[in-house]
Amino acid sequence: MLDYLVVGLGLAGISFCETLEKAGKTYHVVSDNSQQSSLVAGGMYNPVILKRFTLAWKANEQLDLAMPFYTDLEQKLGVELDYKLRVLRKFASIEEQNLWFEAADKPGLENFMSTRIQENQNPSLDAPYGFGEVLHTGRIDTAVLLASYTQYLQDKGNLTLHSFNFNHFKTFPDYISYKTIKAKQIVFCEGYGLKNNPFFQYLPLNGTKGELLTINAPDYKEENVIKSGVFTIPMGNDLYRVGATYKWKDKTNAPTKEAKSELLEKLKTFLKCDFEIVDHVAGIRPTVVDRRPLVGQHPEHKGLYVLNGFGSRGVMIAPYASGQLFNHIEKGANLDSEINIERFTKKYFPKKTLE
Ligand SMILES: Cc1cc2nc3c(=O)[nH]c(=O)nc-3n(C[C@H](O)[C@H](O)[C@H](O)COP(=O)(O)OP(=O)(O)OC[C@H]3O[C@@H](n4cnc5c(N)ncnc54)[C@H](O)[C@@H]3O)c2cc1C
Repeated sequence: MLDYLVVGLGLAGISFCETLEKAGKTYHVVSDNSQQSSLVAGGMYNPVILKRFTLAWKANEQLDLAMPFYTDLEQKLGVELDYKLRVLRKFASIEEQNLWFEAADKPGLENFMSTRIQENQNPSLDAPYGFGEVLHTGRIDTAVLLASYTQYLQDKGNLTLHSFNFNHFKTFPDYISYKTIKAKQIVFCEGYGLKNNPFFQYLPLNGTKGELLTINAPDYKEENVIKSGVFTIPMGNDLYRVGATYKWKDKTNAPTKEAKSELLEKLKTFLKCDFEIVDHVAGIRPTVVDRRPLVGQHPEHKGLYVLNGFGSRGVMIAPYASGQLFNHIEKGANLDSEINIERFTKKYFPKKTLE
């Protein structure tokens, strides 16, 4: 009898496995490649919402947990994951500069928003009003993390690569079984794949498709992340990721012509040098109606848990949400009510609510 069965190995699954390892729990993971979100993600961590100049939800708390989490993983896996990068938000006008300064004075934001305007030094960029700099930002190489964590689990014999088949899944009062595996608990970390999970389909995960290009731009020579209509993220060797799009109808992982045109159009408003497209990827972000994660126990079935809904901020949220779930299961700690799926229990028992 294992302590845990984990379904899905994206950022959610990896961070939950790490939490289990640190606590000395036994577990097995079943995952497929039906979802691509963690694989294709830009990997940015940035505590400031750059549209509105506000602090991201629980940004302080999340960063405090995320930074040592990825440093520990770098040491454990022997790979580089955390690239400290400055994020420069391009100003479109003097008014925007003023809004930036107003926001940078607000409590909570002052640690993250520099009050010095960065003049544009890069001849390949069109940025007459300069940039605002966000502090404590960077990029986690999620593709390397996924590949090396998959290898790590395979070496330990803790991973089965296939699609979880609910026909082989049974729940019992004190444990669950899946094929030959028995475990005290099961944690579903399926990203947008949750839509095919008969136990948690009632949750309002809507999913937002995102697409990214990789360009080769030898003349760009930019070391910082530039944020204008789109981000450009330096990847080394003259490569830059450009993204991302937000679309709500199409739920496939297929790159589209429309998204490519949209990204190029936005990119060309500020990037003036030549470049060549070398890659184009897409994935579905697990976004939720109220923009908060989905964490907690199934309303009826004991031992069935969900860890999902990280939206467009999985890098920062994953270690925080995993810790919350683990402490809830193992120590009886209360879940943060904003992430607890109890907020949607009425959707599971619609008839009772009407009575
Ligand atoms: C284009 C794009 C750019 C992004 N950029 C950023 C960024 O810069 N910073 C940031 O923080 N976040 C970013 N995100 C969001 C981030 O990718 C997500 O928040 C995060 O990766 C979600 O992780 P997850 O583990 O919940 O889901 P996923 O990454 O989708 O992982 C779920 C895993 O479960 C597997 N699975 C699903 N169903 C089953 C099943 N039945 N059986 C077996 N396995 C199953 C899937 O195949 C997958 O491996 C971006 C997303 C996209 C699409």
